[in-house]
Amino acid sequence: MKRRNTRKIRLGKIDIGGNAPVSVQSMTNTKTQDIEATVSQIKRLENAGCEIVRVAVTDEESALCLKKICSMVNIPVVADIHFDYKLALLSVESGVCGLRINPGNIGARWKVEEVVKAADERNVPIRIGVNAGSLEKDLMRKYSGAVAEAMVESAQDHIRILEELDFFNTKVSLKASNVTRTVEAYRLFSKVSDIPLHLGVTEAGGLYPGIVKSSVGIGMMLAEGIGDTIRVSLSRDPVEEVRVGFEILKSLGLREKGIDIISCPTCGRCNIDLFKILEDIEKELVGISEPIKVAVMGCPVNGPGEAREADIGIAGGDGEGILFKKGKVVKKVAMEDMVETLVSEVKKMAGSS
Ligand code: SF4
Repeated sequence: MKRRNTRKIRLGKIDIGGNAPVSVQSMTNTKTQDIEATVSQIKRLENAGCEIVRVAVTDEESALCLKKICSMVNIPVVADIHFDYKLALLSVESGVCGLRINPGNIGARWKVEEVVKAADERNVPIRIGVNAGSLEKDLMRKYSGAVAEAMVESAQDHIRILEELDFFNTKVSLKASNVTRTVEAYRLFSKVSDIPLHLGVTEAGGLYPGIVKSSVGIGMMLAEGIGDTIRVSLSRDPVEEVRVGFEILKSLGLREKGIDIISCPTCGRCNIDLFKILEDIEKELVGISEPIKVAVMGCPVNGPGEAREADIGIAGGDGEGILFKKGKVVKKVAMEDMVETLVSEVKKMAGSS
């Protein structure tokens, strides 16, 4: 897949843009002031493979809490700020690796200059996050609504403010809850700028609509070579966002990270509780970053054959199952031992047990 050539920026230890792999990020939904809860959620996100985490900075206390939070986690933290330049300054002092703030909404020029100076001194990139739901009124009037052109112009207005201050360490997002509008905005923007893009469909909804909208929207753009980092938005545990993010990238061959599970939909030949086995295996294998294809098949008739591409798998039988590797049968396993056997074999392959 040919990817659009964007300029590279660095967010903590993660490269974004250029030839860097498309990264997966998420956002905490804890109160940032609750350091323990926030750190614990970030650790769970890390374990799921999350590479960048954003936290809401709503007041001075949350900005100050970031100091401790940043020191206790292993992935770069981005401070999400609306309007208040002081919170941006405090967050940079607290050690965040990135800021999400729209310079056009900060107010007086000197305030923007202060934020840019602080970000520049510490090599902290700024994400300009255009959201169709909060577009500037003049652009809404000019375009008679929050259309893609208005979103792109909004991004360009914010970028101009930063570039006039010689600040180029930026990335951009152009999110709407409508998939076609989101895709159109990103397409338009990518024709006029090489700034790296953070992809997402905002307020995508609960699990099913959220996964579908994000997969279709983000997937369409990635398939066209657009996008350098992604965030799936779900009204759920953010760990789910990371899982979906990697599934999108894996399905397009853009990342190989982690376990790739192949499972059959079951049919009348299936005599095991495949859905439950699958659920247990998925839970047990979260956090493994080695790219291993695991198959969970309902019967031995088609199981090994259908999963020939898999590194390892199990095919259910009557009261027992068959363990196979690379499509070849290895041994029989009792039904109640299937999960344990498969998980321990996968962990051995991954070198984590
Ligand atoms: Fe049916 Fe077996 Fe195919 Fe699963 S693997 S769908 S149980 S034939």
